[in-house]
Amino acid sequence: MSLQDKDRIFTNLYGYQSWRLDAARARGDWDNTKALLELGNDKIIDVVKASGLRGRGGAGFPTGTKWSFMPKEPRPDRPNFLVINADESEPGSCKDREIIRHDPHKLIEGALVAGFAMRARAAYIYIRGEYIREAETLFAAVAEAYAAGLVGKNACGSGYDFDVFVHRGAGAYICGEETAMLESLEGKKGQPRLKPPFPAGAGLYGCPTTVNNVESIAVAPTILRRGAEWFASFGAENNRGTKLFQISGHVNTPCVVEEAMSISFRELIERHCGGIRGGWDNLLAVIPGGSSVPLVPAAQIMDCAMDFDGLKAVGSGLGTAAIIVMDKSTDVVRAISRLSYFYKHESCGQCTPCREGTGWMWRVMERLRTGDAEVSDIDMLQQVTKQVEGHSICALGDAAAWPIQGLIRHFRPELERRIHERGGSLAPMQEAAE
Ligand code: SF4
Repeated sequence: MSLQDKDRIFTNLYGYQSWRLDAARARGDWDNTKALLELGNDKIIDVVKASGLRGRGGAGFPTGTKWSFMPKEPRPDRPNFLVINADESEPGSCKDREIIRHDPHKLIEGALVAGFAMRARAAYIYIRGEYIREAETLFAAVAEAYAAGLVGKNACGSGYDFDVFVHRGAGAYICGEETAMLESLEGKKGQPRLKPPFPAGAGLYGCPTTVNNVESIAVAPTILRRGAEWFASFGAENNRGTKLFQISGHVNTPCVVEEAMSISFRELIERHCGGIRGGWDNLLAVIPGGSSVPLVPAAQIMDCAMDFDGLKAVGSGLGTAAIIVMDKSTDVVRAISRLSYFYKHESCGQCTPCREGTGWMWRVMERLRTGDAEVSDIDMLQQVTKQVEGHSICALGDAAAWPIQGLIRHFRPELERRIHERGGSLAPMQEAAE
């Protein structure tokens, strides 16, 4: 059964009401937050663990467990920090911006609750540089929260001091990687760090740090108010809760919508997106979790459960639940080649397989797009993706490899067709469409 309105966490997702503090309070935010803090650090973590919440930024690590890694008795000279990842640069992903521009107080209240649970001194919200209006809203909402005594000294009258800082990025995709984000926050070039040490041991300014996605933090107060069992009543085992899905591409009404986890792809599209453009027979493939996960052909995705396990079973992933729908008018080779260009452009360049491999993969993809290649190049490209995957400091190398692997796995006949038709009309037609 689809999610009912009474069970929605993000009740102002579309901005029908004001984002300001008084309107947020009327929607239930900041309602006796002091009582939530009085549950105690460990109890809050226990509730979030029991709710089954898994990180909403892509990796899906259990959120409560992540919080529990933070030191229980922070040293005065090494305070704990919470960093909230609002960089949201994954192509297809556009949910955090809706939270920030229409419901920022959910995020700020969540920052306080999560920060308190992990005994953090402050939260840093790192927002994508291109989100100019969203950043303005967030700055203003944080100022409102300070003025009302909700954060800062003696936050919500709890006796707990907690600061919230907003930091704007400058547009690099790689700063969404948690350790690159920490480098960037420290004023350095945004390049991922080698792990270990993990951020919970040595993160921001060398202090224990937890990095969480906006959505993971913003849902925490509602989970505490309504209870772990309520949240866990949605979705399949191991995939609990509600989730913001972002559907773009060839559906009749693209949207961002909160739904129960594990809803089937077909039901999600029928209920909220008005169906596939041209009907279900016109569906070609879907990238279900943002640009870094492999595409899934139509026949496999139609009745697939939209959750971590369901999409893993079809060789892809939930990622950020940014669902890119492609109908049969799509040049799927060109689409994946365009993503390869993106990863080539965004590679930070500090490790060789990624720096060299992403450019190499993109160039071969372009040759495959126009058919100017040999059939053996397909196998060689597959091998190169395997040499990049798992051999780089951060996951960008994997993210560049997986879409190509998905293309070869599911659309090899199309690649071969282009090669056999090499010199035909494909290349000029594509160039004309640029
Ligand atoms: Fe930089 Fe790519 Fe290495 Fe990540 S994998 S650290 S983006 S070069």
